[in-house]
Amino acid sequence: MPIATVNPANGETLRTYDALGAEEIERRLATAEATFRTYRTTSFAERARLMHRAADLLDADQDAIGRVMTTEMGKPVKQARAEAAKCAKSMRWYADHAAGLLADELPADSDVKDSGASRVLVRYRPLGPVLAVMPWNFPLWQVIRFAAPALMAGNVGLLKHASNVPQTALYLEDLFRRAGFPEGCFQTLLIGSGAVEDVLRDPRVRAATLTGSEPAGRAVASVAGDEIKKTVLELGGSDPYVVMPSADVDRAARTAVTARVQNNGQSCIAAKRFIVHTDVFDAFAERFTAGMAALKVGDPMDEDTDVGPLSSEQGRRDLEELVDDAVENGANVLCGGERPEGLGERGWYYAPTVLADITPEMRVHQEETFGPVATLYRAADLDEALALANDTPFGLSSNVWTCDESEIDRFVRDLEAGAVYVNGMTASHAAFPFGGVKRSGYGRELAEHGIREFCNITTVWHG
Ligand code: NDP
Repeated sequence: MPIATVNPANGETLRTYDALGAEEIERRLATAEATFRTYRTTSFAERARLMHRAADLLDADQDAIGRVMTTEMGKPVKQARAEAAKCAKSMRWYADHAAGLLADELPADSDVKDSGASRVLVRYRPLGPVLAVMPWNFPLWQVIRFAAPALMAGNVGLLKHASNVPQTALYLEDLFRRAGFPEGCFQTLLIGSGAVEDVLRDPRVRAATLTGSEPAGRAVASVAGDEIKKTVLELGGSDPYVVMPSADVDRAARTAVTARVQNNGQSCIAAKRFIVHTDVFDAFAERFTAGMAALKVGDPMDEDTDVGPLSSEQGRRDLEELVDDAVENGANVLCGGERPEGLGERGWYYAPTVLADITPEMRVHQEETFGPVATLYRAADLDEALALANDTPFGLSSNVWTCDESEIDRFVRDLEAGAVYVNGMTASHAAFPFGGVKRSGYGRELAEHGIREFCNITTVWHG
């Protein structure tokens, strides 16, 4: 895959980049290693000062970097600006909280005494250069949610971004440089996926985090496993969105539309499978389908566009294959199911789609739909809703709509997912842990759990 900016709204190649050669990669790894040796000794206060400065710069750049993201991967420009704002806010959160999240811990006096110590403490020390392999779908946020905690913890970052968002990748390196972080604290490596293995095997790289597809996660985790290096993986999702009879069906249906089509439907935590109790199925299906059909699909640079093009021609092809397979196997198309008229010729657009009468042999039942396509299921009762929700290889997040406390308890107890959102849609937040189970990956990003993933958790024992 060439490293290039190709506008998904019209297929035009705007800029191509040469991948870094071996010499330049070596120079950057050496810089990362050298910078880490001194940066690791800086105070939280100093790191916080730099992180706040980076957040201020990013806020000032919201419009410009928003347009770059939209040009590179097609998300509606208002959502791109909101992504930049969220990143700046989260950077400030880590700047303000890292010292507390990573403060020394003191075990219970009785355990200290039991070990024969006079004093014991647990200290969170940084690990070193961490490689981040990141996807294009939230080109700023996916990186910032790694970089803000990692840099605040005293690590340094090496970014291998997706090949279709090179300008955003270079912007990020420049942002941290302009904020005053020492050279080597955060570097972008413009390399193809084939060059990742050598970088990961380099002894100066201590750990890796990857967000993306299962094959990419498997490739990086295998190499890291071979090298005994820590990884965090955040892979795909096919989140259930369960609606029970006590729910506010109108609000559930309205929120469902946003939950499915945010970011042109290309979000790991988008709700993808809509599992609705039979008592409210017809009411939900009618409102949800009407909402999906009413969305404005078009140029992502237009302020009033709801759904822009998919990020790549291959992405649209993959989505079309899933829909066609479902239809061939008897799925009922309630809306969409095709390229939107007049738009699908030049750009990689796909109409918001609702598929009903899904059966287990259809590929959509087990695979992730990375685009604005929803599957609709009817459940006879809570047990069937839960069984359907868990009948997936993924386990990222989940959404349930009910006002019944005992139902909420059952869902929270039994849903196989890294998060349960009750009466709302999933959205990540700097203060809450984020990650999945099953084939959605392992480890956690964000919150204290995320910032500690790339720390050397050190026991200090005094006799
Ligand atoms: P990929 O997983 O291929 O890309 C994500 C990142 O991993 C990119 O930086 C990519 O680099 C890199 N990469 C890919 N293969 C390897 C490898 N073997 N070794 C090391 N690095 C690798 O995502 P795609 O863009 O191809 O999307 C395919 C599908 O993945 C989507 O349809 C969706 O299902 C899922 N996905 C999930 C995301 C999520 O947020 N969970 C985000 C993006 C995709 P390069 O760009 O150079 O190939």
